[in-house]
Amino acid sequence: MPVKVAINGYGTIGKRVADAVELQEDMEIVGVCKRNPTFEVPMAAARDLPFYTTDEEHRALFAEKGWDVEGLLPALLDTADIVVDCTPGKVGATYIPLYQEHGVKVIFQGGEKAHTAPISFNSSANYMEAWGADMVRVVSCNTTGLCRTLFPVYRHIGIEEVLAVLIRRAADPWDSKKGPINAIKPVLKLPTHHGPDLNTVIPDIPIQSMAVAVPTTIMHLHANQVVLKRESTTEEVLDLWERSPRLRMVSGGDGILSTAQAMELAKDLDRSRADLFEIAVWADGVKVEGRKLWYYQAVHQESDVVPENVDCIRSMMEMEPDAETSIATTDATLGIPAPRS
Ligand code: NAD
Repeated sequence: MPVKVAINGYGTIGKRVADAVELQEDMEIVGVCKRNPTFEVPMAAARDLPFYTTDEEHRALFAEKGWDVEGLLPALLDTADIVVDCTPGKVGATYIPLYQEHGVKVIFQGGEKAHTAPISFNSSANYMEAWGADMVRVVSCNTTGLCRTLFPVYRHIGIEEVLAVLIRRAADPWDSKKGPINAIKPVLKLPTHHGPDLNTVIPDIPIQSMAVAVPTTIMHLHANQVVLKRESTTEEVLDLWERSPRLRMVSGGDGILSTAQAMELAKDLDRSRADLFEIAVWADGVKVEGRKLWYYQAVHQESDVVPENVDCIRSMMEMEPDAETSIATTDATLGIPAPRS
């Protein structure tokens, strides 16, 4: 029997996770919950996705538009084994009593405080920590990006310390409310939360982080400096990343000189919503000298956490004990190439 998955919050992340779950043979979407009646509703209805809303007040707003909903969130939770909470940051935690009342497991997203769930998750770094758990948080897009490149280096070479400088997109492409639109905005409280957030998944990497927001919507870019435990070479690190999942090595020499071309590549991959689930790492922007490693990576914030959510369901529902098998299954359905063996 496929595992029954509900989605609460059908926005940027929620609609992508719903689509990814629908592609898995071992799980199914039993319904999605959306608070406001916006254009996504008739589109999802046309695909027979059962739609729910949060409460009677919002059901009335749906009714005003002539859109029927299956029911309210509590009814949806009663049909589900697990809910993926994709509500806006810090809203998810307010639902904990309701989720517990309905005896449903829950995955939160990275916008929730780390203490919202006892486990923070990344597929490669700690898949089995979520095994059978009731509440897990899939870490943010940026932390997922840091885990993807740092975990293989930590495991195979060793890391003494990291300084991650995050150049953050101002808003998601659809979001016309946020800025800056003509400024560079530093995060003044240092270190930023990104380093400590990595430590919720991989506690043993000493990391500091800084961040600035810039007027772009399509990706984040990280400029990372790592002190390794031993001397290495650029070739060794590149080889390691080519054998690690969900990384896409790109090259300025091939014309990918910025996040703009990285997302153009994603469009050419012809995936749903032109998503780039992988972290793009510039192969010709990686440099190792002795024990020092420098590199750049770009994060498609709207989609990199999507495969992690699918694997997290498999671990929490005790469906697949092997992380690599879950990752390979998820990636095959999403069209993500397998790493080099
Ligand atoms: P979003 O604003 O795109 O979508 C949120 C959805 O939740 C919307 O459909 C909204 O109508 C709905 N909603 C609002 N209040 C609700 C409520 N009280 N109950 C139920 N639904 C409600 O947000 P998002 O970008 O998808 O973010 C969701 C989570 O994922 C956040 O924790 C965020 O930090 C995290 N995340 C976002 C990104 C990103 O770049 N967008 C990347 C990784 C993780």
